[in-house]
Amino acid sequence: MIIFGTSSSTIHPAKLDGGCCPFCKTENQMWIQGYRKYFHVFWIPFFPLWKKVYSVCSHCKGAFEKQEFNNEKLITSFENFEKNRIKIPWYHFTGIIIFLLLITLIAVLPLLTN
Ligand SMILES: [Zn+2]
Repeated sequence: MIIFGTSSSTIHPAKLDGGCCPFCKTENQMWIQGYRKYFHVFWIPFFPLWKKVYSVCSHCKGAFEKQEFNNEKLITSFENFEKNRIKIPWYHFTGIIIFLLLITLIAVLPLLTN
């Protein structure tokens, strides 16, 4: 039996540079956080699927999705952070790496034994 499915890893919260809360209007108290889904086989991450990021205000504790942002500064700092700072962790590709290593090994082994 092959056990597979999806799991998720946390994108650790980080403070955004600037932007104000869409709800309480507090300046410069916005954080970005979220999670990333990946596909796993026997709990080994194979490849990343999608990520979900949103913003949290540390003043009113409200959580907001990107489409709820109502000020340009917040959208800009959120998008900059999302683009430049949130990278796919290498271990989400562990399964693919193992798979490629196996293929390489199978291809190379007959050459070594000859
Ligand atoms: Zn707020």
